[in-house]
Amino acid sequence: MAENYDVIIIGSGPGGYVAAVRASQLGLKTAIVEREHLGGICLNWGCIPTKALLRSAEVLDHANHAKDYGLVLEGKMSADVKAVVARSRGVSARLNGGVGFLMKKNKVDVIWGEAKITKPGEIVVGKSSKPVVEPQNPVPKNVKGEGTYTAKHIIIATGARPRALPGIEPDGKLIWTYFEAMKPAALPKSLIVMGSGAIGIEFASFYRSMGVDVTVVEVMPTIMPVEDVEVTAIARKQLEKRGMKILTSAKITKVEKAADSLTAHVETADGKVQQITADRMISAVGVQGNIENLGLEAVGVKTDRGCVVIDGYGKTNIAGIYAIGDVAGPPMLAHKAEHEGVVCVEKIAGLSNVHATDKGKVPGCTYCHPQVASVGLTEAKAKEAGRDIRVGRFSFAANGKAIALGEDQGLCKVIFDKKTGELLGAHMVGAEVTELIQGFVVAMNLETTEEELMHTIFPHPTVSETMKEAVLDAYGRVLNA
Ligand SMILES: Cc1cc2nc3c(=O)[nH]c(=O)nc-3n(C[C@H](O)[C@H](O)[C@H](O)COP(=O)(O)OP(=O)(O)OC[C@H]3O[C@@H](n4cnc5c(N)ncnc54)[C@H](O)[C@@H]3O)c2cc1C
Repeated sequence: MAENYDVIIIGSGPGGYVAAVRASQLGLKTAIVEREHLGGICLNWGCIPTKALLRSAEVLDHANHAKDYGLVLEGKMSADVKAVVARSRGVSARLNGGVGFLMKKNKVDVIWGEAKITKPGEIVVGKSSKPVVEPQNPVPKNVKGEGTYTAKHIIIATGARPRALPGIEPDGKLIWTYFEAMKPAALPKSLIVMGSGAIGIEFASFYRSMGVDVTVVEVMPTIMPVEDVEVTAIARKQLEKRGMKILTSAKITKVEKAADSLTAHVETADGKVQQITADRMISAVGVQGNIENLGLEAVGVKTDRGCVVIDGYGKTNIAGIYAIGDVAGPPMLAHKAEHEGVVCVEKIAGLSNVHATDKGKVPGCTYCHPQVASVGLTEAKAKEAGRDIRVGRFSFAANGKAIALGEDQGLCKVIFDKKTGELLGAHMVGAEVTELIQGFVVAMNLETTEEELMHTIFPHPTVSETMKEAVLDAYGRVLNA
């Protein structure tokens, strides 16, 4: 007879494994199915290894600017890319092992293989179609194997994969996805990055720091198109100052490949076409949900534009089947996946105070140099929504800590509802902003108004003081500018 659970989760990324831990805490008999790597894309090929690469880039940047800080470092600094990649893979492996430990600690059964839903309440786990990369992401010990399993509740947490543009498909050799970009055998001399969303711009920033000649091509008028235009204008200026070439309102229409290089045909807004030759290209034009081969069509689960359609609690149109994380649509971010996972299982467990996920309060962070972070509406989106707004800004050039850090290029911008004082959005570029944005996220979650923010004491000297000053600026009360 098939082994029966309260909850089976398909996919062990940040959405799936966090949902599993919470389900177990709530007393639900839980299993998680994984076909490739515990921790999903985030731990193995996404958030974490990129941050490890970017940390190496940051240290190298600092070393190269040691003189600015009165330090003498002899000789030219350079990167040993094999060691940089090895460190990044090591960080991933440690966390991948950590997920195995968490499953064991929380008595969650791990089932190894590829899951397919055969009917509501039943899955079949078959042989994985994905190779396991040993020794970085080994199959954990004591896992269950192929077979039929049943559960009252099935949560789809299968994540997403790189999207490809027709005719410019990644080939793993000249045109890379984030998989190849994450572990280059050697550094290319020149690189084109197609797409300037968070993934594209983080890799562009990393490779530029490593000394690679980088050209970013973005079809939209600004880089990081979902971010506030003032913030991205500053980020662009800083990235260009670091030697990155950036083309916006520009489209790669064709790529011609040679033995060890490629030429991209780039059409700009004025209709002109220029050719850019580089050693490699990273295709970073977004991701698409893993909805295939899961039996969704047969069971009747509704999908839209490559993602499973859910309500605010992860429920699909079929009773007993849920979806969370990247496979359930944007914003495709690890913390959104985790939050949806917790909300979903708490609702399943019948907790009374569960709130639907509010996608308007999901922060977004890009860890390029300079960093970019935001939450809520941009100024343009607030105006588009017909909101009467007040905007405050504070430049890092007037912040003591930023100057002391040698990182005085940055901005904090806040948007309030004029009538109610509700914080509608916050946007930051500069040093450590990916750590700072959470202050505004908490404020928005508590439905804070300008009054309360102005009465909050911020520590001195910190870059966080730019947050308070921006709020004061929105009300004509700025102190240090
Ligand atoms: C380069 C890069 C950098 C990123 N940086 C950040 C960042 O800094 N911050 C951030 O918030 N987000 C970042 N992301 C996005 C983040 O990785 C995803 O949002 C997150 O991993 C989504 O989690 P998930 O649980 O939905 O799915 P995933 O992490 O994709 O996990 C899904 C899992 O399901 C498994 N699976 C799929 N189908 C099956 C099946 N049929 N049977 C069994 N198992 C299956 C897969 O093997 C995978 O392990 C980044 C992504 C990339 C690519």
